[in-house]
Amino acid sequence: MNKPKMATEKGSRVLMLLAQLERHDGEAVGSDTEAIRQVTGKILHLIQTQEKTRKEVMAKGSTGMEVILSSLQSTQDLQTILNILCILNELLTVAGGRRVGVFVSKGGTAILLHLLISSGREASPSEELMHQIHSLLAKVGPKDRKFGVKARLSGALNVTVNLLKQNLQNHRLLLPCLQVLRLYSSNSVNAVSLGKSGMVEMMFKVIGPYTKKNTTLLKVALDTLAALLKSKMNARRAVDRGNVPALLAIYLDWHRNDTRHRHTLLRKSILGCIKNITNIKLGRKAFIDADGIRTLYNTSAECLPVRTLDLLVNTSSLIMRKCFPKNRLPLPTIKSAFHHPLPQVPASSPAAQIYSQPPDVDDVMDESDDNEETEVDTENDTEDEEKEHKNDDIETDINKLRPRHLVLRPFDELRVYERFFLEFSEDFQLIHKPLNGPYHGKLNLFHFVEIKYFDKVSKHTVYSQSTNSPYVESKVQNSHLESLIQQFSPTHLQFSNIEQALGCLALNTSDSMNGGCTGAGPQEEGGDQAVLEVPDTAALLPLHDPDLYLEMAKATCSVPGYTEVAYPDYFGHIAPNFREHILERVYGVQRAKIFQDIERLIHPAEILDRVVYDLDMQSCPVVDGESLKFNSRFESGNLRKAIQVRKFEYDLVLNSDINSNHYHQWFYFEVSSMRVGVPYRFNIINCEKSNSQFNYGMQVLMYSVQEAIGGSPRWARTGSDICYYKNHFSRSSIAAGGQKGKSYYTMTFTVTFQHKDDVCYFAYHYPYTYSTLKMHLQKLQTMCTPHIYYRQELLCHTLGGNGCPLLTITAMPESCSSDRVCQFRNRPVVFLSARVHPGETNASWVMKGTLEFLMSSGPLAQSLRESYIFKIIPMLNPDGVVNGNHRCSLSGEDLNRQWQNPSSELHPTIYHAKSLLQYLSAVGRTPLVFCDYHGHSRKKNVFMYGCSVKETVWQTDINASSCDLQEDLGYRTLPKLLSQLAPAFSLASCSFVVERSKEATARVVVWREIGVQRSYTMESTLCGCDQGKYKGLQIGTRELEEMGSQFCVALLRLRRLTSPLELRNHHTHQLDMERDLIETRCNMTCPTTYVMEEDEPPFMEEVDYSAESEEENDPNLETYTQFSQSEAAFPSASVVCCTQTH
Ligand SMILES: [Zn+2]
Repeated sequence: MNKPKMATEKGSRVLMLLAQLERHDGEAVGSDTEAIRQVTGKILHLIQTQEKTRKEVMAKGSTGMEVILSSLQSTQDLQTILNILCILNELLTVAGGRRVGVFVSKGGTAILLHLLISSGREASPSEELMHQIHSLLAKVGPKDRKFGVKARLSGALNVTVNLLKQNLQNHRLLLPCLQVLRLYSSNSVNAVSLGKSGMVEMMFKVIGPYTKKNTTLLKVALDTLAALLKSKMNARRAVDRGNVPALLAIYLDWHRNDTRHRHTLLRKSILGCIKNITNIKLGRKAFIDADGIRTLYNTSAECLPVRTLDLLVNTSSLIMRKCFPKNRLPLPTIKSAFHHPLPQVPASSPAAQIYSQPPDVDDVMDESDDNEETEVDTENDTEDEEKEHKNDDIETDINKLRPRHLVLRPFDELRVYERFFLEFSEDFQLIHKPLNGPYHGKLNLFHFVEIKYFDKVSKHTVYSQSTNSPYVESKVQNSHLESLIQQFSPTHLQFSNIEQALGCLALNTSDSMNGGCTGAGPQEEGGDQAVLEVPDTAALLPLHDPDLYLEMAKATCSVPGYTEVAYPDYFGHIAPNFREHILERVYGVQRAKIFQDIERLIHPAEILDRVVYDLDMQSCPVVDGESLKFNSRFESGNLRKAIQVRKFEYDLVLNSDINSNHYHQWFYFEVSSMRVGVPYRFNIINCEKSNSQFNYGMQVLMYSVQEAIGGSPRWARTGSDICYYKNHFSRSSIAAGGQKGKSYYTMTFTVTFQHKDDVCYFAYHYPYTYSTLKMHLQKLQTMCTPHIYYRQELLCHTLGGNGCPLLTITAMPESCSSDRVCQFRNRPVVFLSARVHPGETNASWVMKGTLEFLMSSGPLAQSLRESYIFKIIPMLNPDGVVNGNHRCSLSGEDLNRQWQNPSSELHPTIYHAKSLLQYLSAVGRTPLVFCDYHGHSRKKNVFMYGCSVKETVWQTDINASSCDLQEDLGYRTLPKLLSQLAPAFSLASCSFVVERSKEATARVVVWREIGVQRSYTMESTLCGCDQGKYKGLQIGTRELEEMGSQFCVALLRLRRLTSPLELRNHHTHQLDMERDLIETRCNMTCPTTYVMEEDEPPFMEEVDYSAESEEENDPNLETYTQFSQSEAAFPSASVVCCTQTH
């Protein structure tokens, strides 16, 4: 070691002394011991008395620390050593971590540990020396990341252990030794080795019942114990020795005696020990056997009123949830209650895996539940690992990032799709003015469907029983509605079924009204001749028609063979005109709900456990007046089972997607027989996603039939005490991708019903059924004017026998002159699709907005139609929608993962949609824009995912030279325009990265294989917005529809920006400026948000929703935050798109 040189500065006494010390140190062995002792003694005195001196020694540029450490290393004299240790203790006590940092950086830790070892070898080491060394180590350890490893490798652990064993009663020495031991124990390898040396038992000798003495010492001992118990081997040993009941007894003792809450942290440390010991299965069992749940439940109940004790309640709650015995989901199987036979079942498909299971396999719960993870303590140093996380989902294969414009199929195969593109060959020569849509009704989708339906009728007698409207006869037998009809409208009794009657009610709108319909409901006694006021939905909902809905529903094919129609779909929905704010999260709601769940275990006698609805039973359970009635046997309905847990609390189980055993999130069900003014708690207990916007202010949707009749047919956000958390229902490895020990999540909400004898509906998001789509399309067709070229065709049939509509919308040519017809034929194509995921109903509402805009009569709409030919598939997954699936089609697969190789048999809609695009590419008409509408369950706002080679490359290690790709920045223009036009749209949330996990999605395949540069997924929030005009509000259908129409406006602007040649005569200069503006901004972009999985990027808000809340943070999250921040820096100033200057 090079001896540091101490500048011999004049003036400062301490610096002179340090210089002297340095000189002595530099001299050969045998230097004057006495002199050094004196010098260090003087320095110590100065340092103890003058803060100025301490500052001088530690000043920047001073080599004081080096000199002191160097002397400590070379001297053998005890007194000198003690002097120096005292100097260091004085220096490092103040000024926080900076001085310790200097000490560590100069190698101080190793020097101290070496001194500890050499002193430990002596027969009877000096107590004072040991005290000083440990005191210093206790200060230094927390600042030295490798302290644990250094201590172990140097052999220091044993010195401290031996010292502790000999000095249990010597509190002066005990405290620093324990402090150092705690530091050692935080290293997992050390913890194992210290456990073998008997340190767990030793800690139990130190801790004990309540006392007012030595609480600092006790706290350190408890923290050391907790650190040791993180090792599974130590935890097992502690369980074997009966330490779990001992710890509970100690906790209870402190809880009873520490009445003034002076030692809350100490009590939390006891809980910390229990928390770690119950990480192992044996520990949890010992905890249950020792009645731990009751102990912690009772103590927590007493702590609840004191807010400062929250940390105790929260830790107790965590332990109770972890130890809560895993329950079996109350189902015979997790396979969907309905099965649909498939035309073929490829061996690798999810359906094959499900149905090839031997029948006796229990798929609800694993054989040995609570499976213990391998209990092998790691012998490697995890602490040394630089955890460098890389996103392994980003596409790094540069060849895959280069879009291929290959036509992979022979054109002969694609030729059959020519019939869907009549507009390309249309000559209009046979048509006389006024030009009229020649295809009205000619290729009517529903014509086909109707035929299909009658096929079905012959097979299913259920439909043939009644004459006019075969639906709903069994429905609402006891419903108040029926009695209303009988009571108020005697003539309606003649109708053969209630649906018809309701149909009449819905149409008799202009009759006299009665105020009694609101408030307490129309069933006030005396009812007289009150006439129901049913809103005139025709005026407010131009696309809605109840009769037409019924007609459409008749022809819809469902797997369960539904014969009922839900009232909301029948009546329609008028968006409320009041604001629906995103709820503030109320403190302690989740905890309160979890405590109610724990009470089930503590007071089992109070639990009713009555099944009141069950799809798995042949006949539905008979329900008396003491419980709610449930139903979801209607289109898009999804409720499998309802269990009354307490008088006003129900556990609800959702059905899996058909031919699948999971994907539960979407729900839609009906409730009746409710009491007014009583809060009902509903728990959906088999949710799968690990987090939800229900934790961040999103409410469920409710539709009240009484309110609909009273004039407000609408879905409204409702529910209080909403939260989403991991529950104690075990999820079998079969349903959890092979992972054992997983749980389901509970989504809980509380509702107080306002009306007696109401029929209410609850849904995950605004329902939008396939029959609704068909009704809307029929109505849209009637909006067609001579200026609009509109065709509705049947792209194909689905597996379930439903038709998949394809729309063509553009403007009729202005005349039949050849140049006009030529312009007509050669308009660029825009290809849109939606609802591939049935649970994302918001996508349908956005699509509705787009369609209504396209069919509207305004000049913008006309201009847009004149600019493009629109090819639209408004519902890519009708079967999923009809049958209440959340994610899949009847093949049990996510259709948006089938775009690479869709099967014509299993994924017909995707197969034919892709074929249409391949045809377009083959005939040189590759779409200008492709956009697939989706919904997003974990993020706010509306945003887009696109595909950019450059932005993907920025995220990877591919070096720049290998990818000096030219990339047109045009893909950014549309999202940019949307961010200016649509208030719900957020550019900051957009991402243009190509991920490997998404290579089979529509967006990536259409970009890569078809060569559409502007290929997007547009994601709409299920919850609400946190920016823009709608900041703080939950999203409604009005906002979603507006998004759809603004998308159209953006396309119009895009057209103006992308075709300067055509428009050059008009406003060239202006356009060029706009282009420049947009492109410069695009050049300034930073890497965009990296998105983890298609719909569920990690959510940033921190909420303790799981029992493992103290798990290490996912490093992905940090990456995500960084990108979010950089993206937020992206200038979002508006680009003025003024197009009306001339
Ligand atoms: Zn989706």
